[in-house]
Amino acid sequence: MTKKGRQIVFDKYNGKCAYCGCELMKGWHVDHIEPIVRDSKWDRDKGRFKQTGTCRKPENETLENYNPACSSCNIQKNSFTIEQFRNNIKQFVNSLNQYSTQYKFAKRYGLVTETDTEVEFYFEMVSS
Ligand SMILES: [Zn+2]
Repeated sequence: MTKKGRQIVFDKYNGKCAYCGCELMKGWHVDHIEPIVRDSKWDRDKGRFKQTGTCRKPENETLENYNPACSSCNIQKNSFTIEQFRNNIKQFVNSLNQYSTQYKFAKRYGLVTETDTEVEFYFEMVSS
């Protein structure tokens, strides 16, 4: 991506992450709103998948399909669509209740309170 294109993506939400709304820091990511799928193949020598450099949805490589994202949102969104990402975040509370003793204690002693708040992304709040 060109420096100019990257600046256009950065400016889309005034230097904020399209998802959580934090100020973008050095090393911010360009997210594909509609994911692209990068092909990968198993590298037997290294014992892990390696990207081949080919992309299965090249039509999604457009400026309109790019969102500025902080690295943690982009890594968590992975190759999810917006709705899949939203559902993924919704499941975090269930996982915490199932697996985190510290979370369950924090909740039991009133340090954490659960709400039915809907997961709303920053770009949805600023555009409504
Ligand atoms: Zn973020």
